[in-house]
Amino acid sequence: MSGSDCLFCKIVEGAIPAELVHEGERLIAFRDIQPRAPLHVLVIPREHIASLGTAEASHRDLLGEALLLAADIARAEGVADDGYRTVINTGGDGGQTVHHLHVHLLGGRALGWPPG
Ligand code: AMP
Ligand code: ZN
Repeated sequence: MSGSDCLFCKIVEGAIPAELVHEGERLIAFRDIQPRAPLHVLVIPREHIASLGTAEASHRDLLGEALLLAADIARAEGVADDGYRTVINTGGDGGQTVHHLHVHLLGGRALGWPPG
């Protein structure tokens, strides 16, 4: 799945609305429609990459940028001091439901470990 079939590509294109918290050259971030914590933001590349499993060496900088952006958003949203979690679900057992690489940023409450 890619491009026109992909929900997150549609959000990148503006064809599906989202509550954006960041719009950059290579990444965007928006609030999860079904938040699992008081702060739940998704950081995604504009480029369609199906999962971490299909990311390539050429995506090295992009992946680093995505994590640093998540940290920036955590600071901006006021959860950095108390702590937060970044998660990339990959594949079926990983719980991935949208096949466009995304980093979950979760914060605003104490999060259990291990995840279910
Ligand atoms: P994952 O299960 O890791 O693939 O995460 C996909 C996430 O996308 C879930 O947390 C969903 O709640 C979220 N999601 C699905 N559709 C939308 C949407 N239209 N806008 C914002 N978040 C969405
Ligand atoms: Zn996509």
